[in-house]
Order: sequence, then structure tokens, then C-alpha cells
Amino acid sequence: MTRVLVVEDDPQLVRALVINMQARRFGVDAAPDGATALRLAAARRPDVVVLDLGLPDMDGVDVIRALRGWTRVPIMVLSARRASEEKVEALDAGADDYVTKPFSMDELLARLRAAVRRTESAPVAPDTVVVTTDDFTVDLVAKKAVRGGRDVRLTPTEWHLLEILVGNPGRLISQKQLLHEVWGASQSTKTNYLRVYMAQLRRKLEADPSHPRYLITEPGMGYRFENPGH
Ligand code: CA
Repeated sequence: MTRVLVVEDDPQLVRALVINMQARRFGVDAAPDGATALRLAAARRPDVVVLDLGLPDMDGVDVIRALRGWTRVPIMVLSARRASEEKVEALDAGADDYVTKPFSMDELLARLRAAVRRTESAPVAPDTVVVTTDDFTVDLVAKKAVRGGRDVRLTPTEWHLLEILVGNPGRLISQKQLLHEVWGASQSTKTNYLRVYMAQLRRKLEADPSHPRYLITEPGMGYRFENPGH
């Protein structure tokens, strides 16, 4: 059974989450504040944490930092619509994904299942060497991308970006993480680099670069590799 720790101070929302999760056979613990969350996380070892950022006793981002001190458990952030800076901060602190309130229960549960699957196979299962999409394939070992039967010429920077995204299917990677990985810590504010290189990658890989299917932008947040149908 997948165990979920729900950290949320709105009792009605907690109730809705618990009912829906139990109906899908998740085991659920609920914490109304950050201190209880940290205690339950240590005692119950959940498979995934659903975390509201606005808690009565501490900032949700500090809960993420405290958890990341000892666990890689996937953390799904619940956040208010306009707080995009807060979401970025949460991702940079180590959250795996977020959903914006109000959210659909089906979407949340789908994202939860995806987050749990990723940890079960993560870090990128060593046997996943070739990622196949409907439009191109990426061989992570041979460091090669093929589209329409032909090798796609990628610069080392393009390759590095693609490798990070494709190696973490479905996962939102923040701008700061990508910049840090590819260009180094000193360049972590140069989001224009990312826009330029992502546009190049889309031109080389996507059938319709202006409506990408695979290399998805989460505005103001980061990028995500989706592989519809696989
Ligand atoms: Ca709240």
C-alpha cells in the first residue's frame, strides 16, 4: 500500500483528500501543521508527502528543507494560485512537483502516482538507456538523439539539458536547477539562456516546435519532459 502524508491545515480539504485517497487504497496520515508533519514523516515513513505551503506554525518551504535533510521522499506541494515565487522556492528547496489550488482530485492523484513511480524506479533506472517517443528517440548511453531515422546534431549544452529532462520523465525541473547543472552556480539567474536553448532543442526534436508535446515549459517555474502515449 502506498502511504501518503497529507500536510494541510484546512480541515475540509484534508477530509476530501483523505476520502479520495482511501477510496483509491492509499494509506493516509494527516498533519495540520509543520511540527506534526516532521514527526509523522519520521515515524511513519510515507511513500509520498502532499504539503500545503501555508501552515500555521512554520513555512512549508522550511518543512521541505527539514525533510530533505534526511529523506528523498517525493514531495508534492499544494499552493495558492498566484504565489509563483513561493512555488519556485519550494522546488529549489527540493519539492518534486506542485499543484495549484483549486485543483482537480483526479489530477492530484495522477501526479501522486507518477511521483511514487519515479522514486520506485529512480534514480533513472540503469536499464532505461533509450527513451522512445512518437517523434524521436534519445539514447542516454550512446548520447545520441535520432529523429526520422537520422541522427540529430546537438551541441554539448543542448545535450546536457536534454539528458537532464529526459532522464527525469514527467518531473518538473526548476529553472535554477537546470541553470546550476548546465551552466554552473554563478549563472543561476540567466533564464534567457534556458529559453534560447530550449527553443533550439524544440526546433531539432519537436514536430511542431511552437506547440511542443515533449519539452514543456511551466511558465516562470521550469521545464518538464512529457512522453504522451509511453
Ligand atoms: Ca493553509
